[in-house]
Amino acid sequence: MEKVIDESVQGSPLMISADQKNKRKLYIESYGCQMNFSDSEIVASILANEGFNTTSELEDADLVLVNTCSIREKAETTVRRRLEKFNAVKKHRPHMKVGVLGCMAERLKSQLLEEEKIVDMVVGPDAYKDLPNLVREVDEGRNAVNVILSKEETYGDIAPVRLNSNGVTAFVSITRGCDNMCTFCVVPFTRGRERSRNPQSVVQEVNELWEQGYREVTLLGQNVDSYLWYGGGLKKDFEKASDIQKATAVDFAGLLAMVAEAQPGMRIRFSTSNPQDMTLDVVRTMARYKNICNYIHLPVQSGSNRILKAMNRLHTREEYMQLIDDIRQIIPDCGISQDMIAGFPGETEEDHRETLSLMEYVKYDFGFMFAYSERPGTLAARKLEDDIPDQVKKRRLQEIIALQQKHSLYRTSQHLGKTEEVLIEGPSRKSDEHWMGRTSSNTVVVFPKEHYEVGQFVMVRIDDCTSATLLGEAVGHAENME
Ligand code: SAM
Repeated sequence: MEKVIDESVQGSPLMISADQKNKRKLYIESYGCQMNFSDSEIVASILANEGFNTTSELEDADLVLVNTCSIREKAETTVRRRLEKFNAVKKHRPHMKVGVLGCMAERLKSQLLEEEKIVDMVVGPDAYKDLPNLVREVDEGRNAVNVILSKEETYGDIAPVRLNSNGVTAFVSITRGCDNMCTFCVVPFTRGRERSRNPQSVVQEVNELWEQGYREVTLLGQNVDSYLWYGGGLKKDFEKASDIQKATAVDFAGLLAMVAEAQPGMRIRFSTSNPQDMTLDVVRTMARYKNICNYIHLPVQSGSNRILKAMNRLHTREEYMQLIDDIRQIIPDCGISQDMIAGFPGETEEDHRETLSLMEYVKYDFGFMFAYSERPGTLAARKLEDDIPDQVKKRRLQEIIALQQKHSLYRTSQHLGKTEEVLIEGPSRKSDEHWMGRTSSNTVVVFPKEHYEVGQFVMVRIDDCTSATLLGEAVGHAENME
């Protein structure tokens, strides 16, 4: 059950509808977090203007791009295997070019380009607007590289094309990079310092999505609660902003309210929240607007104060529990999920039990749970020995997963007998006769299709559940949120 995001979409080729005048074919695969999938939509949009249509057939491609993830060693190993496959295809299609995008770009550029020579192009997460030049360079037979991290780039002016979209739910990036410097995490090194996107461009993108028929957006960032727009620039430079910039700055609660008011019929979600930056202002804003979903992804990583400190998570176990209490007081039926890391350097059995007891306190709806993976360049890799044996990490991870499964079943069973609003996202994976959608609290619901349609809000009576899914029957359309 170890999970990054939706495992089923990892590495699947992403497609958009073809433009007749485009003659070249782009095959693009994405790995890792939602930010990467969202970035691939920006890349496809930029390359559509350069004469590329997407294809799902690797063997047909003129350009193959893989949007990579460095968060754990396993993610990098998967991408390396794919690069070997691409190179095997290239033997029969010598004109085909291969490029690496995203988080592995900065870390492995010289290795991939010069030592192993398995790619033609390496492009970091802030350099996608340079793709037209880089593609021209590889067309002329030179290797191309741009991994410069930017202080400004947010791609606010690029209208992403939606790849493999269900036409109902979409991601909208609001921040890039991260300033938190958690000691285990490679993100600040691969994606740079934190900057926020102009709120007007966020609202404009949400308005356009509404016009195109989308009914739910997820505002995306490594740490959305840290969102701060004061006219552009790095979050860390806010102190140097002018008085007028400070007075007119928009924080995350402000942005949420702007988006919720701009499109009252659109469901709004966001991810990821960081406990040290999440304010009660945000929680109260969620409570104030009916169209902001009652769901918070609130990674904690460990329940032990000693380990939280070693991870440089800037809150204690007690402060986290207080935040959970406050959320539940303001939004009693709020869905809450976690990320957890088992076997961080120095983690004792006592620390591990503290993690289990914190989980017992919160009883999360679901979670994403990982064994610690040392990442080169991080503070933990430089200062701490990766001293927990693999089998101990695995055993602790299994205990965390088993407890989460118990809590997930407890949470899904709380929905039994209730009638809840569900947005239909598409057919159920297991049955053509059933729709799949989600409640406001982000729990998956499956129910018979009857006369209902994708993109509609329906009221579903919940009759049964597993630990991951609610089963029910629609009893009518939901009242329009507008
Ligand atoms: N920005 C979010 C935060 O800090 O809470 C999430 C960032 S990350 C893309 C998603 C999750 O991967 C993290 O919450 C963490 O649980 C996990 N992760 C990050 N680095 C890891 C590492 N070195 N080993 C194992 N898991 C890791």
